[in-house]
Amino acid sequence: MIVPVVDLSECVLCEICTDVCPEVFRMNDAGFVEIIELPEYPKDDVNEIIKSCLGDCISWEDD
Ligand code: SF4
Repeated sequence: MIVPVVDLSECVLCEICTDVCPEVFRMNDAGFVEIIELPEYPKDDVNEIIKSCLGDCISWEDD
């Protein structure tokens, strides 16, 4: 399965991902973006976020 990952060193905390796709992305208590664990990820939605991400820091990774 492929899962989305965020390179936090490049994340600018614009919150586009958490606003547009809250079923996948959330802000954790430490103030960083994290990926919610899901059995399967909505590929089209995540691909849209990848294009919109201001830090260009979201990608797919083999789990
Ligand atoms: S869209 Fe990208 S830069 Fe913006 S908060 Fe999400 S991961 Fe970080």
